[in-house]
Amino acid sequence: MDLTSLSNEDLLDRVSRLRKIERSSLGVLLEHMAEVERRWARLPMKEPSLFAYCTRALGYSESEAYKRITVARLGAKFPIIIEAIKEGRVHLTTITILSPLFTASNCESLLAQAAGKTKREVQFIAADLSPRPDVPDSIHAGARGDDYDVIDPLSSSRVRFTFTAGARLLKMVDRARDILRHKAPTGRLEDIFGESLDTLLEKKDPERRLKRLEETGRQAPDPADCDPMSRRIPQGVRDAVWRRDGGQCSHQNPDGTRCPERGGLEFDHIVPHALGGPSNNAKNIRLLCRSHNRLAAIRVFGDAVTRRWTRPA
Ligand SMILES: [Zn+2]
Repeated sequence: MDLTSLSNEDLLDRVSRLRKIERSSLGVLLEHMAEVERRWARLPMKEPSLFAYCTRALGYSESEAYKRITVARLGAKFPIIIEAIKEGRVHLTTITILSPLFTASNCESLLAQAAGKTKREVQFIAADLSPRPDVPDSIHAGARGDDYDVIDPLSSSRVRFTFTAGARLLKMVDRARDILRHKAPTGRLEDIFGESLDTLLEKKDPERRLKRLEETGRQAPDPADCDPMSRRIPQGVRDAVWRRDGGQCSHQNPDGTRCPERGGLEFDHIVPHALGGPSNNAKNIRLLCRSHNRLAAIRVFGDAVTRRWTRPA
């Protein structure tokens, strides 16, 4: 099928319809899986277990198989879970996280709580219902750990972090521990990382900068005195733009809603600097997230030009 000739509306319409079909077939598949398990002893199976059947015969990865089996079993007990999956209110992952906590009496309220939530948010719901004690700090040398980050809520107020890093970071942690000894005599990693991030945010976080300016009553030098043709946006303009745009991407969607992005924001020249737009006037500067900044650049300069000077997001 040639998708390149589809109109934009048709393309998006198809994707949203396919997603609906995907969700409802997933629900139906889970119901069938539960029935396969119920009949397991009477079926002519080559595989020793449902898990082996899912990975070997159905071609799922281990984690895909684990999630499907967990949710299929739970769905056999509580069919409203499968309905919620068909309607797209919850994901396989969120149900898997909550799976040990479902009971006949909390099933409906737990589903309502998890609806539309991210994995992280659901981990917090689970941790709140079933808190675990803090884990002691440990730094392992030599062992080959997972090479990805884990952020694991233990309760509603405590989180366990696990990550693997280079020897250079260990050196920095040890050094920071020495320097902070008067403030954090026990040298707990929580205190060391807390102090470090506090110092970083004090320097880099525009919100904190604006709060400081408010408290001290100081201001950056008047941007009107700065060279309007310099590409550099003066600090006074940055402060004003951040305040005006509320630390959020200023892109307006066609339906009037605003892009909610608050991370990775960039200062954008509305009339581009290359076309003579001034840097020292807040009216010509706005906050945009990375994707909307790129989109704005494509509108002005065209795709080919932009691809050359923007890195892939
Ligand atoms: Zn945006």
